[in-house]
Parts: sequence; C-alpha cells; structure tokens
Amino acid sequence: MSSGIRFDSVSVAYGKNVVLDALDLVVEPGEVMALLGPSGSGKTTALRAVAGFVQPVSGRVLIGGRDVTSLPPHRRGIGMVVQQYALFPHMKVADNVAFGLRAQKVAKGEIAGRVAEALEMTGMGAYAGRYPRELSGGQQQRVAIARALAIRPGVLLLDEPLSALDAQLRSGMLAELARLHRELPDVSILYVTHDQVEALTLADRIAVMDKARLQDCGTPQDLYRRPRSEFTASFVGNANLLPVEVGSGGSVSFGGTPLEVATDEIAVGAKATLCVRPHLVGLGEGPNALSGSIAEVQWRGSTHRLYVDVGGHRIKADLRELRVTPALGDEVTVHFAADDAVLLAAGVGGSDV
Ligand code: ADP
Repeated sequence: MSSGIRFDSVSVAYGKNVVLDALDLVVEPGEVMALLGPSGSGKTTALRAVAGFVQPVSGRVLIGGRDVTSLPPHRRGIGMVVQQYALFPHMKVADNVAFGLRAQKVAKGEIAGRVAEALEMTGMGAYAGRYPRELSGGQQQRVAIARALAIRPGVLLLDEPLSALDAQLRSGMLAELARLHRELPDVSILYVTHDQVEALTLADRIAVMDKARLQDCGTPQDLYRRPRSEFTASFVGNANLLPVEVGSGGSVSFGGTPLEVATDEIAVGAKATLCVRPHLVGLGEGPNALSGSIAEVQWRGSTHRLYVDVGGHRIKADLRELRVTPALGDEVTVHFAADDAVLLAAGVGGSDV
C-alpha cells in the first residue's frame, strides 16, 4: 500500500481552544517522523487527526495522496500503538493480533499466517496462546505492535509507545523499532514523544511542537547543529543561550565582551541569542574566551558539568578529560570556536516553518 502522510493546514479545536494550529507537515513514504514537544503541545492531537479519532475544524489530512479527512478510522489503512498497550484482556495474544484482520474481513484461511508473521516480526511467536496478563509490559507492547502491523498498514502511528516501560526495556525496544523499520522500509511512521533521545535515535526527521504549533522541522543533525529557534535549541539537546547584541562582520557583544560568530545574517544592532552546546565549550584560553567563577560542579560519570558564572549568566561546560576538578569560586576561563556558535534572531519560531 502506498503511504506518506500530509497535513494540509490542519487545525483542531475544543470549543474555542485551538490545540492544533494550522499544521503543515509532510511525512514521506517510508520516513520516520517524530513529533517532539512538551506535554500539551498538540502532538497526540496531530496523530489522532491522522487516525481519524479527531475531526479537524479546518484543513485536510492525506494518506498516500488520498484525502482521508472524512473517512472513518478503519478505512484509513493505519496501524496504531498507544502508551497503554490496550490489548483485550479476555483474548489470547493470537486473537488480539487477529482482531484488525477480522474487522477488515480478511479471508479466514489467511488470518493464521498473517498473525504468525506479525508475531514473528516482534519476537513474540512463542506466546500466541497466552493471555495479556501472562505477559510482561514489554511483551504486551510487542503484541500491540504486532497487532498494528498485522493489517500491513501503509502508515504506523506510535503514541509514546515506550513511556510505560522502564529505562532498560525502553532502550531495547528502541533498537527493536529501528530494526522493524528496516524490515518494513515502505511504512511511514509518525512517532509522538516528549523524549528527545527517542526522537534523535529513531527519527529521519523531527517536527518540534510547542503551544499547538510546529516550531521547527529537520533532521536530528540539523536541529541539533543549526536550531532555528531558542525553543528548538533548548528542547533538542542542551544549550547555552547567551543574550547578545549583533555587531558588524560576524561579531557580537555579550555583556560588553566581543565574540566572533560564523554568521552575519542578523541586522547590526539587533538583539539576538547565541546558542553554544555545553560539550563544545572548552576550559582555558582560546577563541571567544570568557572569564568567570565556578558556581557549581557536577560529576556525571563520563563528563564533568561545570557551571561558570560569567557576568550573572551561568555557562554550562561539559568536559570529558578534566585532570584537576576546579573548586567552587575558582576563577576560570572558558572558550568556544566561532563555528560552534549559532546566532538566533530574537522571537523566531512558530509561524513560518
Ligand atoms: P500532547 O500530545 O502534546 O501532550 P495533546 O495533543 O494531547 O498534547 O493535547 C493538546 C491540548 O489539547 C492540551 O491542552 C489538552 O488539554 C487539550 N485536549 C486534548 N484532548 C482534549 C479533549 N478531548 N477535550 C478538550 N481538550 C483536549
């Protein structure tokens, strides 16, 4: 089945409360798109609009090029997995997985083979005769995924599928989902999560949502290296966000200290924000040096996180090789390369993605 999802200016409202505001987004056939954002930003609503469980007040949803906006959920060719497994407790695993096939009136003779295939794919072949209560949380979620895959959907919708699992299971299931996607290269996946690690690990592209709006969209690498807004910079990875005033010829002023940056796209004199990732900040003299005092030191196993107070701003530096750990109050200098700093215009994001 051809796939791909297109949101064409889709808005959803409850009463006067607009919870999805004119979403334009394309998920290419075979692509994994993560919808990433804080709780309440409209991610699940967007997914439910694709599934057909919520009706947009305006705009269209297309699947495989076909306008499905007014089609009922079972006619959209989608598989869906939600956080809480939602298996039927009185049905054995095989019957749970067969449910969608029966609803679609797939020929009886074909059902057993399709169920076995889906269970095999999720590593649950040996559990067909069990009841959900006889399975662990991770196993139940595998069955839920098998059930979604059994109908051979063109589009797979995953709504926080791992958030009910503990950390170790989650990372195993992430790898499993990546493998499944390699085995099903034609299926488009829309993956709702508030967890940036899941989004960075699984997604071909990430759509960053905040306050009912798409804020940014790009590959994980793009969003991390070249965020377009402060929101993206702080939600995808960790960021130092320094208020600066733009000077001429790729320089900015941070509290009176001149710093070199690699871009000069923002008007001279404008207020802007300089984004520098903590792992790109070095300790000691170097380009773009800033002096301050150690406000806090955290040991994080493979790195030290230093918080350096520079003129009232706390600069975070993640350092791998630190022979001597600085003490609180020590005067230090930190620095970063011009190429590692991204200049963000104030107030960017939200309307023009
Ligand atoms: P997210 O998935 O990003 O956490 P949701 O899409 O679930 O966000 O919700 C977006 C907003 O819509 C929230 O403010 C939520 O309270 C509201 N909302 C969701 N479902 C309903 C509903 N059935 N009735 C009223 N408001 C709702």
